[in-house]
Amino acid sequence: VSPVIRRFAVLLAAGLVAAAAVPAASQETPPDRFAGIRDLLARRSEAMLAGDEEAFMATVDRGDPEFVKRQRLLFEGFRLIGLEDYRLDLTFEYWPELTTDVEIERYGEEAQPHVLHVEERYRLAGYDRQPALEDLFLTFVNREGEWLVASDTDLDDLRMYSGRKLWEFEPVVIHESEHFLYVSPPELGPRSDFILGAAERALDTLDQEWPEDWSRRVPIFVPETTAQLDRILQATFDLEVFVAFAYSGVDRARDWDLVGHRVILNWPNFSRNSEEFQQTILVHELLHVATREYSGPHTSVFVDEGIAELVSNDTDTYEITADLAAGRFDRALPRDYEFITGEQSDIIQSYQESYTAMRFATVNFGLDAVADFYRILGEARLAPGTSRYHVGRAMEATFDLSFPEFEEAWAEWAEDNL
Ligand SMILES: [Zn+2]
Repeated sequence: VSPVIRRFAVLLAAGLVAAAAVPAASQETPPDRFAGIRDLLARRSEAMLAGDEEAFMATVDRGDPEFVKRQRLLFEGFRLIGLEDYRLDLTFEYWPELTTDVEIERYGEEAQPHVLHVEERYRLAGYDRQPALEDLFLTFVNREGEWLVASDTDLDDLRMYSGRKLWEFEPVVIHESEHFLYVSPPELGPRSDFILGAAERALDTLDQEWPEDWSRRVPIFVPETTAQLDRILQATFDLEVFVAFAYSGVDRARDWDLVGHRVILNWPNFSRNSEEFQQTILVHELLHVATREYSGPHTSVFVDEGIAELVSNDTDTYEITADLAAGRFDRALPRDYEFITGEQSDIIQSYQESYTAMRFATVNFGLDAVADFYRILGEARLAPGTSRYHVGRAMEATFDLSFPEFEEAWAEWAEDNL
């Protein structure tokens, strides 16, 4: 039950800011050697938004049947779900041209292959306030004077993956309730009744328990296999422990805004749980989405997870209780990596420590103060200092405790109360 944000994008943006501080040598703007490719991207975006399948598919090279098939699925999925905006921007701000000898050999010199970074921004009708952002690494080829898109997987061997949509694996079906959009393969369509009902009930819980305003409209994606989920999330950790994710992209051009919030279920794991626990999971994930607008690069995982466990009322503390009984409670709040690495019991312990930390804060300072703490912490953007420093600053502002004081008080509270 983990918030997934494209961390690599965050790190990369940090590098960018340093580079931008170096004054650029003034020079004449050279003629744009990529004008033909930019033109192709504009036609492609237009066709996507207009729902013109023929015009969209006319931008696709026919060399790789798998890619052609995926492109058709991409188009059809977007058309089914409904788009308010769609645009593709070629950019060299984050990556240079990525073409190597491999592509020259693969496509031939006369095709003039270029592997380039393209930002895909889109808004799902009725759900995305800001455009969702995916990084695409597209190969462009020139066939008899005409530019076409030939591939989005040429950099997979470097682990530079193009964003992959659920509907690129196979055709999907959609179901909607008042606040939620359910997207799944046809086989899981019949589960939409329960999931959408549970999501609406989860929203009622959130409305009662969480004081901050948020969009309250969320797409729920349900890939059939963990392998598909893995490809969508581009996860760098083992997904087997997890039941669901709140997923967002980071838009570097919008002050690191988190955009395109979705709840994605790890169906093989999620469906193994009781309906009651599935309900709890949905509250947890919706809380992640509800706080995304206030989240920032220094929002530690224990803060996110603690608040989500608190609001979803997932009150298990057996790992801590066992540690206390055995005299091995470490009195330390978990670091971010402790949520994705180690034994399953260690990961569960990290969640339980997070929950008790936010429980402790709520008991002592009230839920409104916890919400204030979260918002103040999220306001720190490209600010100097470690995340621990920023967490400490927000704790000082709202609880009047430094990080070490908070950690000490929480550990004592846990020893006295668990
Ligand atoms: Zn979580």
